[in-house]
Amino acid sequence: MKKPLHVLVTVIILASLTAAYSPKEIDTEEYVETFKQINEDVLKNGKAYETLGEACRTIGHRLTGSGNGKLAEEFAHTLLKSYEIRDVKYQPFQVEAWSRDTVSLSIAPRKSDNFIDVEVVSLAMTPVESNVTAEIVDVGNGLEPDFQAVKEKLSGKVAMVNIGLLPPIKGTRNLHRSEKTALAIQYGATGVIFVNTVKGNVLLTGTASVTGGLIAIPAVCISLESGDQIRKWMSEEPNLVSIINMRNFSKMIKARNVVATIKGDSKKYRNEKIIIGGHLDSWDLAHGALDNGIGSFSILDIARVFKALNLKPKRTIEFVMFMGEEEGLLGSKAMIERYTRNNSIDNVVFMMNLDMANNANGFNASGRTEMVDLMTKIGECIKKVDGNFKNTMINQAGLHSDHQSFMLEGIPTASPIGSIAPDALGCYHANCDKFDLVKKDEMLNTVRYTAMMLYGLANAPEIPAKKLDFYATRDFFIKQNLKKELELGRQWRWGAEE
Ligand SMILES: [Zn+2]
Repeated sequence: MKKPLHVLVTVIILASLTAAYSPKEIDTEEYVETFKQINEDVLKNGKAYETLGEACRTIGHRLTGSGNGKLAEEFAHTLLKSYEIRDVKYQPFQVEAWSRDTVSLSIAPRKSDNFIDVEVVSLAMTPVESNVTAEIVDVGNGLEPDFQAVKEKLSGKVAMVNIGLLPPIKGTRNLHRSEKTALAIQYGATGVIFVNTVKGNVLLTGTASVTGGLIAIPAVCISLESGDQIRKWMSEEPNLVSIINMRNFSKMIKARNVVATIKGDSKKYRNEKIIIGGHLDSWDLAHGALDNGIGSFSILDIARVFKALNLKPKRTIEFVMFMGEEEGLLGSKAMIERYTRNNSIDNVVFMMNLDMANNANGFNASGRTEMVDLMTKIGECIKKVDGNFKNTMINQAGLHSDHQSFMLEGIPTASPIGSIAPDALGCYHANCDKFDLVKKDEMLNTVRYTAMMLYGLANAPEIPAKKLDFYATRDFFIKQNLKKELELGRQWRWGAEE
């Protein structure tokens, strides 16, 4: 009798000890205390909105490899230094990238010789030089059934395609402009005129290539209003001819990611590195205030608040401004290559990406289920500081921003989730992506909630999601239904078999 009782007592004592000192538990009291400080400081001293406004006014767009891009890199570097962060570095990279030169689209309605110029922009990855004269064929929304309907007459002609979906809709899901371009090429078109589906003379750019390489035919974008006009002319005259002339560059460019480091305060944890990154670069049609000024300037301010409050994260944090995201995740790919070369890639235990993150009210654990519990608990601490925070947690992996480069290495990633007003969203990649779309209080929400989550992760006893090995990463993408998309973008590294 004696012995079993003794064992039982020991078990009870051990169980209560592990409950009190479990290494997996976060210190919620300390978190709430620190989160209060973050909250107060950001609401009082937050500079994300103001510094983004200044960059939009004084620099303009932030196209990678351009003079403006260089100014933007320097702006971020200077700003981080002004926050008295000691370790701020450039990580230069050199890579071939596309940029626009000139483009024109002319149309002569009613069989006249009076060619009328239509306002137009080139999509990225279009040919270095292209001169096409051909009839226009209206392919509507440019979904597979729309192409099927005109397949007899499209060969050798220019396809006119809506970017969004306008009625009648012959399909369920819209395709990306690059996928519609691929279909146009497959059906023998010699050019593509994309009609924007946003009102107000809005022109849109972005890549027309599914693979990342240059495409063989010109692809341009016109406004919804120009599209209506051309369709009216076509109703009067079926064989309307268009002339597209374009020149672009595809050349080696130099750019620099900007990296600020706050070293981990704990000997045990400091080799583990958390990266919080977002792309500083933008397209060149406007100022990239939404894409991705709101994300990148939020990160700059998160770095500011960490330094201002002299926060002591256990793990090392790198605050990263990526360049070259728009041309194909160039900056984050360069960073992965650099860290692979210097054998430090395994130190990166987590990556938080902010791309158009606005008005955050929760987080996406990006398919890494192991993170949901910890992130929810940290979110509950945020809620204690600010009851307006919704702590919405989703868990779905997506592609096409800088986190993708880390995900391909098996590194767990996450992003804040929130909302952008639909009107503002219409300016995505467009000539109206300017500072007047940005809302100060919404940016403040992103900064303070993301700063709190970052602190929570950097000080957690453990990051529960571990780096996946080569084959586990493959299985992760299959499970997340991303294999096809990665194959399309030539990023699938695992061969044909599963
Ligand atoms: Zn973006």
